[in-house]
Amino acid sequence: MKYALVTGASKGIGRAISLKLAEMGYYILINYNASYDDAIKTLELVKEVGSDGELLKFDVSNSNEVKQALDTWTTQHKNEYIEVLVNNAGINKDNLMIWMPEEDWSSVLNISLNGFFHVTQYMLKNMLVKRFGRIINIVSLSGIKGMKGQTNYSAAKGGLIAATKALAAEVGPRNVTVNAVAPGFIETDMTKDLPEKELKNMIPVGRFGTAEEVASLVGFLASKEASYITGEVISINGGIYT
Ligand code: NAP
Repeated sequence: MKYALVTGASKGIGRAISLKLAEMGYYILINYNASYDDAIKTLELVKEVGSDGELLKFDVSNSNEVKQALDTWTTQHKNEYIEVLVNNAGINKDNLMIWMPEEDWSSVLNISLNGFFHVTQYMLKNMLVKRFGRIINIVSLSGIKGMKGQTNYSAAKGGLIAATKALAAEVGPRNVTVNAVAPGFIETDMTKDLPEKELKNMIPVGRFGTAEEVASLVGFLASKEASYITGEVISINGGIYT
């Protein structure tokens, strides 16, 4: 059995990635925090595509919860390890910086950036020992370009991009690749309140992307075919120049 952990897999891009990896033969550890019913739905869909999985509840920003959940799983699977990690969990709390409550600055960074640290550090040891691993971080156009109203989100994703490059340099010799995928506007709950009609005028292909399109790219980066790609940030944004 090959294992993959997707954080924030209860819906949106995380769900689509779970299904893609399930199609590729992975058993999926479906992390969620608040949306139990949605996570169960992801598990049902994983089974429908012919694989299997289980739910793993933890808040990625809480190091104790992460450790406890992964300790429990590891104890129950002594001879196995998780070879693919997709750090997808993320939130946005948009506001002009002048109005931004400190809590909205901190929570966005805690989930995207500290969450990456908590989960990845735990899982890295086994990948290094086994000399194979795939770490894929879901970042954003906002972390490359910087978007107004998103200083917190841009900082979190920009930090994650830098961490991707640094970690790739550390673990490359052990056959562990670390890459970032930077979506533009993708149809999910996160973008459902955006003025799609207006925004799609600035997208060369003239539409928002789908979670499945992002998942295809993640599937490729997780595959053996992508062995020589590491430390990269790959945009998937319909042609918006970054
Ligand atoms: P979404 O539909 O809102 O899903 C967000 C996911 O993150 C949910 O599964 C949620 O799970 C999980 N999550 C949130 N806080 C968490 C926490 N503390 N611990 C564990 N899981 C947590 O958003 P999405 O659009 O699919 O976004 C997925 C990723 O893509 C995010 O990192 C986002 O920044 C990035 N992204 C999205 C777009 C876009 O246009 N949609 C563009 C660029 C980048 P629960 O509900 O169970 O808490």
